[in-house]
Order: sequence, then structure tokens, then C-alpha cells
Amino acid sequence: MERVIGLVNKLQQICTSLGDNALSPQSILWNKLPTIVVVGGQSSGKSSVLEAVVGRDFLPRGTGIVTRRPLVLQLVKTDDPNNPDYGEFSHAPGRKIHNFEDIRKEIEEETERHLHKMGGTKVVSPDPIYLTVYSHNVPNLTLVDMPGLTKVPIDGQPPSIVQELDDMARQYVKSDNAIILAVTPANADLATSDALRMARDVDPSGDRTIGVLTKVDIMDRGTDCRDVLLGKTLKLKHGWVAVVNRGQADINSRVSMKDARAREREFFQGKPEYQDLQNTNTTFLADKLSNHLINEIMKSLPSIQSYIEGTIAKLTKELQALGGDVSHSRGAMLHMTLQLCQKLERAFERIVDGGKDGGEKILDVFEIKLKETINKLPFQRILTLKNVQMVVNEADGYQPHIIAPENGYRRLIEDGLSLLRDPAFNAVELVHQILKQIVTLAVNVPECRDLQRFFNLKSEIINHAANTLERLRKEADAMVRTLVDMEASYLSASFFREIVAAESYAYDPSRPRPAFYTLNGDNLFEKRYDHLPVADAHLQKISDHVSAYLAIVKGQLLATVPKAIVHCMVVPAKGGLLTDLQEEVAGKEEPQLRRLINESEEVAEQRESIKKRLTLLQRASMEIAAFM
Ligand code: GDP
Ligand code: MG
Repeated sequence: MERVIGLVNKLQQICTSLGDNALSPQSILWNKLPTIVVVGGQSSGKSSVLEAVVGRDFLPRGTGIVTRRPLVLQLVKTDDPNNPDYGEFSHAPGRKIHNFEDIRKEIEEETERHLHKMGGTKVVSPDPIYLTVYSHNVPNLTLVDMPGLTKVPIDGQPPSIVQELDDMARQYVKSDNAIILAVTPANADLATSDALRMARDVDPSGDRTIGVLTKVDIMDRGTDCRDVLLGKTLKLKHGWVAVVNRGQADINSRVSMKDARAREREFFQGKPEYQDLQNTNTTFLADKLSNHLINEIMKSLPSIQSYIEGTIAKLTKELQALGGDVSHSRGAMLHMTLQLCQKLERAFERIVDGGKDGGEKILDVFEIKLKETINKLPFQRILTLKNVQMVVNEADGYQPHIIAPENGYRRLIEDGLSLLRDPAFNAVELVHQILKQIVTLAVNVPECRDLQRFFNLKSEIINHAANTLERLRKEADAMVRTLVDMEASYLSASFFREIVAAESYAYDPSRPRPAFYTLNGDNLFEKRYDHLPVADAHLQKISDHVSAYLAIVKGQLLATVPKAIVHCMVVPAKGGLLTDLQEEVAGKEEPQLRRLINESEEVAEQRESIKKRLTLLQRASMEIAAFM
């Protein structure tokens, strides 16, 4: 029994450490521990019974409705027997009241204040008063003293009071972990007992009900409650206990608790009708109560345990989300930094390679955006006869019969190529932007969640990644520029030799004629110019040749620009986004590293608090497991 009381004690301590106690209205674990609720008619002796069980005078007692708000009384057994007992109210936290007479006064005054606040029209209120009593001489129990039940309004109370009181009591006894002390005065008819009516209602099996007979000393002369105590009158699963508390005269003359108990003992021992019965006396009641409580606790252990385990699982997850401890040794910090860099690189690679945020977006730039912008380029402006004539005249002077005005061709092609440069550079920029976005995505993937703790490292990583990408962008730009320039210098010679040759010699079936198409898609060798005046035909031919050339270069660039971008930017980014940073970090000393992975205080505190709660809960879980 001591062990179980000890267990409850520990569980309650754990509750308190977790900030969960009877005083916190949203207490969860605490609510799973059994409470003892005293119900019964007005002036049936509820408060007296409760006090007797606790062994201290501190509750308001008397005739009429004395208890007018539920009192949730949490008894806390203290370790040191030499410490004076005291009480503390939840409405006045921190104020230790050592004089129990003052506690009673405070209960009365707080009741008054509260009822006054409610408008002064109510006689009772369901809002409980929370009182914790700390003493070495109390069991760890939570007890609830209730205002009495009544069948008819008395003392000028409004008719609604009957229902109000009933609802209020019901609220407290209906919960499965409430042990009901059904108090009935022995000097009244059992059949009229409000306590039994309520208990039967909420606990039909009687598993949680203990019957208490009070006022045995003032029964009508010639009557006794022996038959009730023997279970002959009304059988209760857990039986009845008879007690004798102090009458009003004793209270007025301040008979002590100790004397009252002695007199109670004398009373039952001196009466032949009770002498041989065990179930008399407050001591018996207290023992019965703790036994019952122990049973209840044993019954509720599995549900407490599963609650604790659920909470442990929840907290463990939270802890994992916060990341592990930070060791401040150079090696550990270095290892962690490098590991985080690698994790980020891997996440970056993964996003680049797969899916709509990476690979697909880049492909989109190549296959849709680049093509569209190139197709929309205003090549036709260059290819008008007027422009061709002007450029050729300027470059070569007016020589209408020259077959291939070389400088004019070069100028026209140069103009066309310069149009192509912009979309190519634009593609580089677009892919660069996408890669930068992927860095942001990678920083936020679950594997890299540790980065959220280390703000400095995170910004270092983002900066270094941005630098790497910027460097690669420049390389890709240079490569694209070279590609365009190469087209300008290479094709001209062979191309023009080819067309000029094809055109100037007669059709020779043994020699396959290459097909050249203009930007409009016309086959160069099927075009006819005989309908045009000679001078125009000449210029149109030049325009068509340039057009066919640009068409080839366009096709070429559409194929090579993506390759250049992938080769210069995407592949190296995947292969070494943070190489610079990793090299730099490897040479850092402990203080610099510490600056890098200095997690925010808030996170550190949060982790500590969760860890503490976890330890407590794990201990509770082990304690409980030992009992099951
Ligand atoms: P409550 O309203 O149910 O809380 O009842 P109280 O504990 O306030 O008691 C009502 C009155 O009955 C008080 O005057 C008590 O002194 C008196 N009383 C309670 N129990 C006994 C008892 O066992 N014997 C005698 N003689 N009077 C009692
Ligand atoms: Mg009372």
C-alpha cells in the first residue's frame, strides 16, 4: 500500500513538474488520477467527513448551505515532518497560509467575493475553489467538497437552486476516476438520501461508491443503523461506514479533532449494537478510502501509461525536429558543418535532376522559351531588299554584277547573329535563376532542417552557393558568346562555296545537291527569280542566301546553347556547389566554427525543456511499468 501511495506521490510530483496539476484547469495527466468527491444533502456532514479524513480543521461547516462552491482540495504529502503544514489557493498563488483557521476564512471570503462578482443574485456557484494543502501527515489525495443537494429550496433560495446543485454535483462525480463518498445522515430515512440517488445515477454498478453514515450519535433514541452497516437495509458493493463527527455545539466550543476522534472511538466501542462491527469510525473510513484509491489507481494505470507513452512519442518527435545537441569541439563542429554542406549538395542535385522544380524547368527554358524567342527574332528586318541593298552598297560599293559581295554578306550575317546572341544569353540567365531557386528549395528540405538552427551557417551556405552559381554563369556566358562567334566565322566560307558552286554549275545528278532552306522554309534551289527585275533578283538571292545561312546557325545554336549551359553551369553546380565553402571551413579554428554553428538560444531552450519533460515522463513510465 505504501508503495502505491508512493507511486501516486511520484506521479503527482511529475505532474507538478510538468506544470500539470489540479490547479491548472486544462490538466490532463492529473485528471487521470482518481479524485474523491463528497456528495450528499445539505448539512448531511460532508465537510465534516472530509475534514475528519484529512485530520485537519479547515472547512466551513454548519447548518444551511455553508459550502457554496466546490472545493477541490489537493493534499500533498511533504517529505520533511518538521516543516509546518500550510495551504495555498490557486487564486492567491505563492501565499502560504499556515493557520488553518485562516484557510477557512479565506474559503468563506473567496466564496463571497466570487458570488458578489457574479452579480450577487446567486447563492451557489459551480466554479471551484482550488486549495492545496501541504503536510507530512496527509495522504496524496485529491478531494472535492461539494455544496449539498436539496429537494426543495429553503432559506429563500430560488427554485432553480435544486437543479443547479444537482447539475454541479453530477459534473464532478460523473467522471470515471471519481470515487463517490455518498454521505447520508443516519438520523434521516435512507430512502430519501440525495447522496444515494445521485450515486446510483452516475455509478449504477456501484463500483465507485462508498456509503458514509453520519450523525449516528444523534439518531432517535431506540433506533440504530446496525442493519444498514450489515448491508441488510440497502446493499452497496463497497459497503457502508458509520462515523461520528462533531456536532454544532462541539464546533462552537472548539472541540479539537483529536478529542473528536477519541470520542468517536468511545462512542462506537461503548454501544453494544456497534461493538462487534468493523465498519465504524473515521479511521476505518480513511483506510477503506486509501485501499479503494489504490485499486482505482491500479485500474487506471494502463490508461495513464498509454497517455504517458503517447506524450513521450509526441515529444520525441518534437525533439527530433529540433535536431540533436551541438557539440563544441572543433572536430565535431567541422564534421557537422561538412555533413550539412554535403546534405545540401545532395538535395540540390536531387532537385536539379528530378521533377517540376528542377530538371523540367530547365528543359522548359531550352525547349520552349529559347525556341520561342529565337523564332520571334526580327530577321525579316535585315532581309528586306532595301536593307540588303543598303548594306551591300555600303560594304562593297555599288558593283551590281558581282556574284558574291563578300563584305555585304558578312555584314548582313553579323547583324543576324547579333540578334541571336540575346536569346542565348537570356537562356543562361534563366537557368541561373532556376538554379538559385533550387538552392533555396534545398535549404528547406527536411534533411537540411538543421540549417534552420544555425543561421550563420545557413547564410554562409546560401552566399557560397550564390557565388558558385555566379561564377558558373559567367563561364556559360563566355561559352555561349564563343559559340555564336564561331558560327559567324566558320560557316561562311564552306557555305558560300557550296551554294555558289551549286548554282553556277549545271545540275549534275551524280553529285547530290545539298538542301538549303531559308528562314521561311523555302528550298533555296527551287526558288525562281526570273519574274523579278535583274537588280532585284540579285538582291533577293543575297537575302535568301543570308536567310538560309541564319536558318542553319539558328538550328545549330538551338542545339548547342543548351549543351553549353548544361556543360558549363548545371553539371559543375551539381558537382561542387559548396566546394569553396568546404575548403574554407576545413581550415577554420574552433572559435570561427563556433560562430558558424551558433544555434539560436530559443531553440536551445526549447530542446532543454522538452528533454526535461521527456526524462520525467520516461521515469513515470518506468515507475508505472514496475506496477503493471
Ligand atoms: P455539509 O453541509 O454536508 O458540509 O455538512 P457540515 O459538515 O457542514 O455539517 C452540518 C452540521 O452537522 C454541522 O453543524 C455539523 O457540526 C453537524 N454534524 C456533522 N456530522 C455530525 C455528526 O456525526 N454528529 C453530529 N452530532 N453532528 C454532526
Ligand atoms: Mg459543507
